[in-house]
Amino acid sequence: MPDLRELYQEVILEHSKAPRNYRELATANHRAEGYNPLCGDHFTVYLDLEGDSIRDISFQGSGCAISKASASMMTQSLKGKTRAEADRVFDQFHKLVTGQSPANGNRAELGKLAVFSGVSEFPVRVKCATLAWHTLHAALQGKQQTVSTE
Ligand code: ZN
Repeated sequence: MPDLRELYQEVILEHSKAPRNYRELATANHRAEGYNPLCGDHFTVYLDLEGDSIRDISFQGSGCAISKASASMMTQSLKGKTRAEADRVFDQFHKLVTGQSPANGNRAELGKLAVFSGVSEFPVRVKCATLAWHTLHAALQGKQQTVSTE
C-alpha cells in the first residue's frame, strides 16, 4: 500500500491553505468552469491572454487539498508562458499523475509540479489533480461550457 503521507507533501498542503492567484481576474478575456463530481471540486479559471501568451492567470472555487494546490501551482507555473508551453507542461503533468512518466524522466519543465508524482498511486485523485488543467485547456480554446471530469 502506498503511504498517504507521501501524497500530501508539505508544499501541497501549504498551497491548499494559501492558494496563489486565488481571485477573480478583472482583465480576463477567457474563462472556463470545471467540475469534478466524484470529489466535489469546482473551479473557475480566468485567463488574460495577449496574443499567444498568458499575461495573467487566476482561479476561484472550492475543492479538496489536491485540486486546490494543483490549481494554485498551475497558475504560478504558467503565468507568462505561451499556449504551446502551457500545453507541453499540461502534457507532462498529465503523464506524471497518471504514472506514464518514467521516474527518472525529464521533469525539468514541471519544476515544483513534480511533487504531484504521488497522485499516480491514487487513481481517484488523478481527477482532482488534473481538474484545473482541463479547465485551463477549455479556457484557452474559448469554450464556454462547464468541463466535467466524468
Ligand atoms: Zn478532489
